[in-house]
Amino acid sequence: MSFVAEFNSLPLDALVKKSLATSSATAREALGKSKLALADFAALISPAAGELLETMGRKSHSMTRQRFGKAIRLFAPLYLSNECVNNCSYCGFSRDNPILRVTLSIEEILREAQELKSQGFRNILLVAGEHPKFVSNNYLRDSIAALHADWPSVSLEVGPMETEEYRALVAAGADGLVVYQETYDRKVYAEMHTAGPKRNFDWRLETPERAYAAGFRRLGIAALFGLSDWRYEALSVAAHAEYLLRHCWKSVVTIALPRLRPCAGEFEPLTHITDRELAQLICAFRLMFPDVGIVLSTREEPRLRDGLLPLGVTMMSAGARTEPGGYTGAGREKIHHTERGIIKEIAATSSEWAPQQNRPTNATGQFNIGDERTPQEVAELIRRLGYEPVWKDWDAALTT
Ligand code: SF4
Repeated sequence: MSFVAEFNSLPLDALVKKSLATSSATAREALGKSKLALADFAALISPAAGELLETMGRKSHSMTRQRFGKAIRLFAPLYLSNECVNNCSYCGFSRDNPILRVTLSIEEILREAQELKSQGFRNILLVAGEHPKFVSNNYLRDSIAALHADWPSVSLEVGPMETEEYRALVAAGADGLVVYQETYDRKVYAEMHTAGPKRNFDWRLETPERAYAAGFRRLGIAALFGLSDWRYEALSVAAHAEYLLRHCWKSVVTIALPRLRPCAGEFEPLTHITDRELAQLICAFRLMFPDVGIVLSTREEPRLRDGLLPLGVTMMSAGARTEPGGYTGAGREKIHHTERGIIKEIAATSSEWAPQQNRPTNATGQFNIGDERTPQEVAELIRRLGYEPVWKDWDAALTT
């Protein structure tokens, strides 16, 4: 049975209600268990468990230390293209946003990657909008193949594909796939995705399973917090992770906790999760899934990232740019608008060409980041907190 069938039969609304009505005694009981079911997870994300955050934090911290030691794995996103055929209301790259777009050539990708390598990274996440014309499967395959020799770990965050299409990317050297469901609330999903193939909720939900069948050995999932009720989303992510751990057991599963950030289009979050609730959620995921990787991105502000790190986080991005060419300015000469898949050059006199202050390129980013510190500053902070920054996540050579 695919996760879609299992998901459709989950009593999510009832679990949210149960969570909100959880008593302090039930929350304590869930916190004391060594193996948790989804109902216990609901208790751990309850307002009542929020009162026990210090105890949850201590348990989550020591469990993470036991399973992952002091390692905090660092990675960097490399944006290949901000072209997209989808309209996602909350994303700067949405098809109808009149933003400055570009797709990097292989040479330009290598330039960006070289810069990241010089900063210390050996673990890279290739990100692109979904656009079959500009971001074709062959383009992705060639990009991965060009990077493979130099990068022990290459992950992808691109438009969902068929299993056979994924196989070609695994063969080229990709080992991880990240796909956020964005929201697990079908109604909100339909409202947020107004055009493009992403409108198909079930197709997206089954993506990690297709990726696993194709040979990806690291699967990343998440909900984007700010679209629907956070407890509903968290319960869905937990159910999804639980399914993947059962059915895709040869893969490492990671959970990210992205919160909506300001972006082009100026979408306002529909719901809110507080910093304290985010901390509680990290602990709840750790207590439910002792071996799952927990990812914290540069969407969050430095102070909060520093505070959340010891609670259960195992992976962080650092120094991230969310625009193609953001590290070196690669591709800046060919920035354009795109209308219905056709490139429209921008008048040379346009003020949009004017270089941005302290930015190597004018291409529009997906969202504004919250932590502008350099990778070295983040690594130093990790050391100060008693952890070890690890730049390399996975080496395929070790498995052969
Ligand atoms: S979220 Fe992804 S699919 Fe949607 S507009 Fe942004 S890049 Fe495109």
